[in-house]
Amino acid sequence: MLEVITGAMEAGKTWLLYKRISDAKLMGKKVQVFAFPVHNEQIVSRIGFSCEAITVPSVAEIESALEHDVETIAIDDAQLFDEEDLANFCNKHRTNINIIIAGVHLNCFNESFGGMVELMGRAENVTVLLAVCEKCKQQTALISQRYRDPDHRIPITKDDPRIELRKEFYAPVCWKCYQPPV
Ligand SMILES: [Zn+2]
Repeated sequence: MLEVITGAMEAGKTWLLYKRISDAKLMGKKVQVFAFPVHNEQIVSRIGFSCEAITVPSVAEIESALEHDVETIAIDDAQLFDEEDLANFCNKHRTNINIIIAGVHLNCFNESFGGMVELMGRAENVTVLLAVCEKCKQQTALISQRYRDPDHRIPITKDDPRIELRKEFYAPVCWKCYQPPV
């Protein structure tokens, strides 16, 4: 089974992933947690939860770290993994393992971020979380925009997939407030 937890930055994706991990452990499941190496050996929610994780830069390394009796796998910041590799991994294991994927589904250019949108369409269960819009303060934000970097101290380029993770520069916004980068 495949579940996708997605939405804007700061919407609580990692918090919900943490709940899924915690619930699976309460049910006595064998759980493995993976994440792109943004944080050191853990997943971190801005709400205040963190959890140990195996941080690896590729799906191949997730595959090789899988334990034979694992029942639930959680993957955080999944938008940063190779799109095709992640899709193949999910197709291969979803009938035997409960796979829960969390990540941002849209980049600041209003494009699919990594494989997230594709995986949303192929999952049994999808949760889309909304954040509070930085501009209008409504809980309707689904995309990110550079509001916190008015001096443009970092270049905005599609070659840097990790731009969304620089939370000191990007903020969640709603569709009314969103303006594509120029
Ligand atoms: Zn707004």
